[in-house]
Amino acid sequence: LVRQILFRPYSLQFPSRRTTCDIAHKKYDVIVVGGGHAGTEAAAAATRVGAETLLITQNIRTIGALSCNPSLGGVGKGHLVREVDSLDGLCGRAGDWAGIHFSILNRSKGPAVWGPRAQLDRDRYRQFIQAELLSTPRLTVLEGSVEELLVSNPNPDHPGQHRVTGVRMVDGGRPVFSSSVVITTGTFLSGSLFMGRTTSPGGRIGDPPSCAGLSHSLRETLGLKTGRLRTGTPPRILKETVQLSLTHTHAPDKQPTPFSFLNKETCCKPEDQLPCYLLYTTPGVERVVMESLHLNTHIQQDTKGPRYCPSIESRVLRFPGRKHQVWLEPEGMTSHLLYPQGLSMTLPPDQQLRLLREIPALQRAEIQTPGYGVQYDFVCPTQLSPSLQVKRVQGLFLAGQINGTTGYEEAAAQGLWAGVNAGRTALRLPPLSLSRTQSYIGVLIDDLVSRGVTEPYRMFTSRAEFRTALRPDNADLRLSPRGFEEIGCVSLRRYREVMRVGDSLNEALTALQSISMSPPRWRERLGTISLSENKSTLVSALELLEYKDITFEMLASAFPDHLSAYLEFSQRLKIEAVYRPHCERQKLEMERIREEESLSLPQDIDYFSLPVSLSQEVREVLDRVRPHTLGAATRLQGMTPAAVVHLLNYVRKTE
Ligand code: FAD
Repeated sequence: LVRQILFRPYSLQFPSRRTTCDIAHKKYDVIVVGGGHAGTEAAAAATRVGAETLLITQNIRTIGALSCNPSLGGVGKGHLVREVDSLDGLCGRAGDWAGIHFSILNRSKGPAVWGPRAQLDRDRYRQFIQAELLSTPRLTVLEGSVEELLVSNPNPDHPGQHRVTGVRMVDGGRPVFSSSVVITTGTFLSGSLFMGRTTSPGGRIGDPPSCAGLSHSLRETLGLKTGRLRTGTPPRILKETVQLSLTHTHAPDKQPTPFSFLNKETCCKPEDQLPCYLLYTTPGVERVVMESLHLNTHIQQDTKGPRYCPSIESRVLRFPGRKHQVWLEPEGMTSHLLYPQGLSMTLPPDQQLRLLREIPALQRAEIQTPGYGVQYDFVCPTQLSPSLQVKRVQGLFLAGQINGTTGYEEAAAQGLWAGVNAGRTALRLPPLSLSRTQSYIGVLIDDLVSRGVTEPYRMFTSRAEFRTALRPDNADLRLSPRGFEEIGCVSLRRYREVMRVGDSLNEALTALQSISMSPPRWRERLGTISLSENKSTLVSALELLEYKDITFEMLASAFPDHLSAYLEFSQRLKIEAVYRPHCERQKLEMERIREEESLSLPQDIDYFSLPVSLSQEVREVLDRVRPHTLGAATRLQGMTPAAVVHLLNYVRKTE
């Protein structure tokens, strides 16, 4: 059905819009507020665990809209997409459907930190998500705005504790009741848009902000601590006005790699993919930024913006005299627009045009929509538990940009997890959490709820201590079995396929381990390979596969009877062989930490001069708290497992 709808991109039929009167008589298990990247995953996940769900969003046609960049994935973010997909989420499949330029970033590094990424066709992405949601069983989609949260106080002895009972809509103020509510209002909560010296209320260009009543509910009624963050987007440029011959063309990967485990190939054929274009800013760009600072309200404010996706104004102010990279990215297969990544700006429109035209390839550029900034409220995420439930409000979950993150992938990952837990809570099942050792989603949520945010949070591979085990290639085996057996959000079809792959990989690893020979005999079989001369040591095929110049195909052609059945997994087996020793070491370290929980830590340690690899943040917290045992140290805010291992090794060495 989805495919049929999507092959006719502009003929999507929406169900007649339901009014609040239609649905008010009914009590839902879960209400999701907001149809962005967090909200769509939350609604879909809640239904997958069996909850009758209502998605309320301001405008059905903007469900799944990409507010800013037309791309998905990247380093760290691609890991999140793979994990969301492993739990049967939407964004990976939508990316495979809408992708028009696929590439794996970071290929020069190890596969653990490769970043699957795709440029997307905006319309196709949105259409996929809408078609998927509108055909999801147990899900009702309602166009409208939520004005207020309905709560009761279940325990008069604890006046600060509440239970959510539903929401009140703007139109007519009618209530809609539910056991759980997931709020995913993105950049819309008390949102203000900025362009030049003009400020107007809005959540995104063309969309009004969230009603003031919702902020009031969160802040005043529930007493939640909120903060303010900002972000911005670049002008969209008419492609025909760009001199592409003055840019460097960047081709996609010859063979696109799908995001989803379920897809063997992407919708876009390899030869149909579109290129991106690279260019650089000039001193003229810096001059325009400096000369128009007084016209630029957004940049003059103290509100924190995304450090790793800064505006051109912030880049110029921080690194004067440098030239900065700008990527011109296609906005769709047939779109006449280019998205200049790196040129997010909030100057007045005439100054935006002046700035663009300081770049040779853009001397004749015309703008379709000017860039702008947005400032919005977020809820300090330390008030949430690892299930993403607000600690003091039973049944209330928050996900996405409202928790201080930035990016579609971070929003989708939280949305999925909040949806799972909102559904479980409504069905009277215990909430679940994901650990840092199991997934990047676990790292993301743990960072948010235990450390909070001071600036928009985005995912990087460096945030995961166990990144050699948390690879994009093994997200399916890490998460899908638990997703089916315990969480209940993964389909039987996916589960069976993942189990088949897992069994085959295990068989192949056993087969590789069972083939052992001395280095000279390996050389006889495979030709010149770089192995030590030690004739007496036996080397297994699995150990041999760790070597850079050995491929699984080479081993399979030497031992076809044992190995050729597993050729479809050659790349995964190579990666597994390379990372296995390290992952096993890391597993042992974790077990050691568990066993050494009661180890006493000397109280006179000078944590600031400790000759081990510890971040300044960790040194400060250790110095301030001075934990008595290793177990107490592991529970400190900001303490990472890697830091605990360093500390443990140091204390044991100096005993
Ligand atoms: P959103 O995608 O914002 O979705 C929120 C949804 O909630 C919308 O559908 C809205 O209609 C709905 N809604 C809000 N209030 C109500 C209500 N009261 N009742 C019903 N529905 C409601 N990300 C980056 O990674 N890098 C960037 O540089 C970047 N720049 C951005 C620039 C701009 C101008 C904007 C607007 C966004 C930018 N983003 C950027 C952020 C990116 O769009 C978000 O990270 C992502 O969309 C967050 O997803 P979300 O689901 O939390 O919220």
